[in-house]
Amino acid sequence: MSAVMDRVSSLKNTELFRALEDGDLEKLSTKLRERVYPPNTAIVREGASGDAMFIIKNGQVEVKKREQNLGVDLTIATLGMGACFGEMALLTGKPRSATVIAIAATELFVLEKKDFDSLLLEHPSISISINKIVAERIEEMNTQKTMGVVSMQTLRLDPDFITVIPEPIAVKYKMLATSYGNGSLTLAMVNPQDILALDEARKLIKAKFTKSMAIDQVIVTDDDFKQFMEGEYKTITKPLVEEKPEVNLDDFLDSMDHIQSDIMKDVEFDDGQEDDSGITDLAREAEGAPIIRLTNNIIAMALKKGASDIHIEPMERGLRVRYRIDGVLREEMMLPKKVQLPLISRVKIISKLDITERRLPQDGRITIKLGSKSVDFRVSTVPTKFGEKICTRILDKTNTTMGLDKLISHVPVLDLVRDMIKKPYGIIYVTGPTGSGKSTTLYSCLAEINDIGVNISTVEDPVEYDLEGVNQVQVNSDIGLDFARVLRAFLRQDPDIILVGETRDTETAKIAVEAALTGHLVFTTLHANDAPSTFMRLTEMGIEPFLISTSVIGIVAQRLVRRICGKCKESYTPDPMILKYLGLSEDTILHKGKGCDVCSGTGYKGRVGVYEVLMINEELRHLIAEGADTLAIRDAAVRSGMKALKEYCLILLTEGLTTVDEVLRTVAVQN
Ligand SMILES: [Zn+2]
Repeated sequence: MSAVMDRVSSLKNTELFRALEDGDLEKLSTKLRERVYPPNTAIVREGASGDAMFIIKNGQVEVKKREQNLGVDLTIATLGMGACFGEMALLTGKPRSATVIAIAATELFVLEKKDFDSLLLEHPSISISINKIVAERIEEMNTQKTMGVVSMQTLRLDPDFITVIPEPIAVKYKMLATSYGNGSLTLAMVNPQDILALDEARKLIKAKFTKSMAIDQVIVTDDDFKQFMEGEYKTITKPLVEEKPEVNLDDFLDSMDHIQSDIMKDVEFDDGQEDDSGITDLAREAEGAPIIRLTNNIIAMALKKGASDIHIEPMERGLRVRYRIDGVLREEMMLPKKVQLPLISRVKIISKLDITERRLPQDGRITIKLGSKSVDFRVSTVPTKFGEKICTRILDKTNTTMGLDKLISHVPVLDLVRDMIKKPYGIIYVTGPTGSGKSTTLYSCLAEINDIGVNISTVEDPVEYDLEGVNQVQVNSDIGLDFARVLRAFLRQDPDIILVGETRDTETAKIAVEAALTGHLVFTTLHANDAPSTFMRLTEMGIEPFLISTSVIGIVAQRLVRRICGKCKESYTPDPMILKYLGLSEDTILHKGKGCDVCSGTGYKGRVGVYEVLMINEELRHLIAEGADTLAIRDAAVRSGMKALKEYCLILLTEGLTTVDEVLRTVAVQN
């Protein structure tokens, strides 16, 4: 079980499978084989036939391509955790187009061609991701400067960078960092194939600048290099003997304190109701304790930036901190390796986890009070090759009243949903992948119908928001308190409205239907790609088509896309091909954000929902009872006015709320 969860959590970090739901990831993970490659071993070779693709679980690889004219291997890309390779050969059926070498100890997932093929068929969203990856690869190769032999005399020599590689190492490996520009560090090498040398250079760059840099290799001849080292090198480096001291943790934290926002002053850790000693005085504790300050800074920054998740990930030579903001993961900082253990222990202590247990996954919670506001953090740990990885989900309980009208920007669809939630009994299913905002929609629905005259009960895992006057129950699988059990207990408590956080199993699905048929209004979420396919999913879970058809009120399928930043939004005339592909008229004007200080240069700020709402009618009821296939149900739903996810996206595009990239990233556009 934990092996499967481990794989699922690894797969979640991969761009390619981001659109897949947990259930699909679990299925996929059973098809993967795992392999470990020691450093400096070839994983695939250019020209060999390809019958599998690879996903990097841990480690780092270099993708190399033979340059025929020069007779050397050019490094096309360096890939790390979450990246994939080898898919080209599967797509084209041609021999491998590049050699891939593990440059650190690397753990891989292997996906066979037959499983890859069926994955593409089952999940159109993966085809879109593949297209993106392939397009990016081609672009990388095109922009890759053809490496040629240059003379040391023609290279720009920047004394600040020449000292990055100290003389003994420069001489040993015959390489020299010469300058920095256009986002990469120029590295002159006699032998660009020397992987150990490159590895060494990377280590030194990271030590000096506390982060990785792209490397632009140029080739110099052996004689030229020797001559340079004995002559000009000495004059350049002489006056610069004093090395910058190693980055000191205290200095680092002091510099971070500048960015620390005022909100941290109000932060208190809430130990929970069971502990009467109450709130720890964090401000006092923090005095002179660098790790506590660092932990607080990481949390404070995440809150300030509106992140939904914090990932603290041990890497081979550092500790990476990433934030998920508006659905996208971004690296926030790379910390020195020595911080890893104390920082992770600190997070575990405040989440009430066992700090002595480092081999098994653990789950815990922290509640932080920001003045009157209370924020819950759900913390989980997974042991990885380089240490325990921590993922912290931020549950902002004050976000409840987002409001249906803010989520659903298109009024006819909003009205339809409002009609559905006014029905006295039946089930409303909200579907979509993880992180698609299902809970926000459910809570906004409940907030609209929450009234003193109705009894609302919810069973959730986790309880994400606090709802005034609602009986909320947290699932606790450790003591056997699962969805089904709570649901059965609810039915004895005379509820009017029931929210089931997630329909995960047949038993829960059956009791929910039973509740709906005995006069309750039931809200729940389900993993299904779109509204029409929800019925098939329920049938597969073992619910009789007849019972589905009589209990369901409607389905709300949804996604979230990033909203264009209001400050730097600008219009542009799109490529006619794009418009044609999307099915928009030739004269459509679209928008994008060019990036500014408000949106940290991303061009996006906040998110907006994409909805596909299917409300049941007589025709659909018949089709479902007869067990009609998804296609027939979709046709009938569209005939009765259902707007598909794609159409809803086009509305958001023409209204200037989101971009083409976002639409392609989140919704597969067919036809
Ligand atoms: Zn902006």
